[in-house]
Amino acid sequence: MSILRLVIPSPLRFEFDYLPPVNIPGAQLRQLAPGVRIRVPFGRRETIGYLLAVIPVSDVPQSKLKAAIEILDEVPLISTNIMKICLWAASYYHHPLGEVLCAAFPVSLRQGKPHKMLGETAWRLTTHGKGLPEGALTRSPRQAQALTILQKSPKVSETRLAQEEISTGIMRTLAKKGLVEVCKISQLPQQGSSRAGLELNDEQAQAVSAIAATLGGFECHLLEGVTGSGKTEVYLQLIAHCLAQQKQVLLLIPEIGLTPQTLGRFEARFDAQVLTLHSGLAEGERYQAWEAARTGIAHIVIGTRSSVFAPMQNLGLIVVDEEHDGSYKQQDGFRYSARDVAVKRGQLENCPVVLGSATPSLESIHNAELGRYQHHSLQQRAGGAQAPTLRAMDVRKQVLNAGFSEPLVATIEETLNRGKQALLFLNRRGFAPTLLCHDCGWMAQCRNCDARLTVHRRSAHLRCHHCAHSAALPRQCPECRSSALLTAGLGTEQAEDFLRSKFANFELYRVDSDSMRNKNAMQELVTNISKGEPCILLGTQMLTKGHHFPGVDLVAIIDADAALFSTDFRGEERMAQLLTQVGGRAGREGDSGQVILQTHYPDHPIIRAVLEQPYGIHARNILASRLKAGLPPASSMALIRADASDAQVGEQFLLQLRKQTQPQLPADAILVGPLPSPLQRRAGKFRSQLLLRASTRSAAQQAAAILVKTAETIPGRALKWSIDIDPQDTF
Ligand code: ADP
Ligand code: ZN
Ligand code: ZN
Repeated sequence: MSILRLVIPSPLRFEFDYLPPVNIPGAQLRQLAPGVRIRVPFGRRETIGYLLAVIPVSDVPQSKLKAAIEILDEVPLISTNIMKICLWAASYYHHPLGEVLCAAFPVSLRQGKPHKMLGETAWRLTTHGKGLPEGALTRSPRQAQALTILQKSPKVSETRLAQEEISTGIMRTLAKKGLVEVCKISQLPQQGSSRAGLELNDEQAQAVSAIAATLGGFECHLLEGVTGSGKTEVYLQLIAHCLAQQKQVLLLIPEIGLTPQTLGRFEARFDAQVLTLHSGLAEGERYQAWEAARTGIAHIVIGTRSSVFAPMQNLGLIVVDEEHDGSYKQQDGFRYSARDVAVKRGQLENCPVVLGSATPSLESIHNAELGRYQHHSLQQRAGGAQAPTLRAMDVRKQVLNAGFSEPLVATIEETLNRGKQALLFLNRRGFAPTLLCHDCGWMAQCRNCDARLTVHRRSAHLRCHHCAHSAALPRQCPECRSSALLTAGLGTEQAEDFLRSKFANFELYRVDSDSMRNKNAMQELVTNISKGEPCILLGTQMLTKGHHFPGVDLVAIIDADAALFSTDFRGEERMAQLLTQVGGRAGREGDSGQVILQTHYPDHPIIRAVLEQPYGIHARNILASRLKAGLPPASSMALIRADASDAQVGEQFLLQLRKQTQPQLPADAILVGPLPSPLQRRAGKFRSQLLLRASTRSAAQQAAAILVKTAETIPGRALKWSIDIDPQDTF
């Protein structure tokens, strides 16, 4: 007897046993490999499960087992390595394997649609067809002719057959007789080749040769290079080495980091299939890219977070660009870090992994210092560009217009008059973060969240930036009917109004998720900016990711204080990364450029450190104090969150979880909480959390497993809980 043991995409963490579909020979069943898709009845519906194993007996009595409906794949579409990486991720992140596996398949395959191969439709003989003697089928000359053609080559395309005037109808008739079957001829991948790269400086050359020497085996490299130091050129030349060995490359980039420029640079360098995989693609395009990666047709796959699970037939190198970037961590559902999965994947695929950044995460710096990663540094800007000068602009007692001090306005003016571009950074979209009544003090609050509503004046709306709630901008106070409504605080729309009135003769581009909604907006912007005309670029974080704006000479951070008072222990690291990345946009070609930080705290140690120390030194100082305090990376954390419509329910659940697990936890694992989350009510749910901290990863893993196992046994109706391993935000 053969039983199919499956995982099914659902929040349930256990496996399901099914009887095989009727009429499937036992020999065929025993050959099925893990990862094969199987359609099964599940509750009152049908769903698609993934085979884990074919086992002789189930713990469930056979009479209670249901039969699977259909086996969808003869062989698994994902490789053993992808299966292994999914198993690892499910276990490390304590997430149900069925949902993890979904990350490895495109939507249509998850839905159970048939696997469509790329390439041209063709026909070939079946075993039965091959056994047919010549001259059979004399009564149908066309069919006989078709068989004769097929006997001469292993696969014949429909186009070829059409040339011989053999229609698809004839082939279908033969197929019904079991003599032929349909197949695909895929374009055989030519070998990817590359054009000559730039002449490398010494630091770049050293990095390339050291990393290239590790191709063919696993090794993790940290490439720490200041902005503009030519990291991308290092990647390009490494990729050339990898292609020469006829292997594929996977390049991960941050969520919105893929610019047409980057892609253009890759396409111009290589005579190879360069494919992208990101959320902006239509489902069909995604499927094609996935299939091309899987079959080895694509030489280079450039993708965002989830592409770390892209199947690759012959992977030779993984590069994670801007490895510190927050978008590599998925923040809901299957909470994984694509960077960390990439390192694990390199280990499984036996290929090197390069983590590159101007502002590496403290985790990666720590790993490099411990000798777990090879460290390569690029300290000079490539191509003779100078590093920008940084200074604080003390705004205490200064008149501020829409957040701009007079000296800053003068500096912007001077920059524009010199024919240069100015990039102004303000990490808050909308017009103002607060609307209040001058007469009674009423404030516009979200009805679903503990948060104020942001004023969006362009669209005349109040919007919550934490949930989907939005409302028309009121003209009167809903409490006292006064029309004296004021805004407080500053957003990009307001800064835009001010700058337009002040610099009417210059172009201004606002770059935030509101103004960049259109798919091509970013591309148009980059094209406009690259003309080099003097202009103002005003924007949020969106502006900081990997873009290359050669004409920018001045970078100003309008409100550097906003980042100073983070409650999370990663706050200082994030601020240093952000300011360094924004500043890195200045003077990337030729001139040196300047970076100005407007602040009320020019003497604050963090501001001073950002100004006076290169990121590498500052980061190592922060790391030293983290290690001293026993915070990550000196310890491991996990966060258990509970959301419920009732404020008490989540907290009670976590309290009970704590009580039940405490006696079983490893000695050095401690639990903090339950505590209300900082934004306690969000989208109508009350949120509480329990923080786990342990001095070693293995203790944290052990404790997390106990917590998850126990949490599943605590009845929690009207409650949703989740676990986040290595959380990015602990508050
Ligand atoms: P990063 O990725 O570190 O920010 P890039 O690779 O984008 O840096 O390089 C910044 C600029 O320097 C680009 O315009 C690039 O063409 C140029 N560049 C990089 N390496 C060299 C080199 N060895 N010689 C001349 N120019 C270079
Ligand atoms: Zn009022
Ligand atoms: Zn809200």
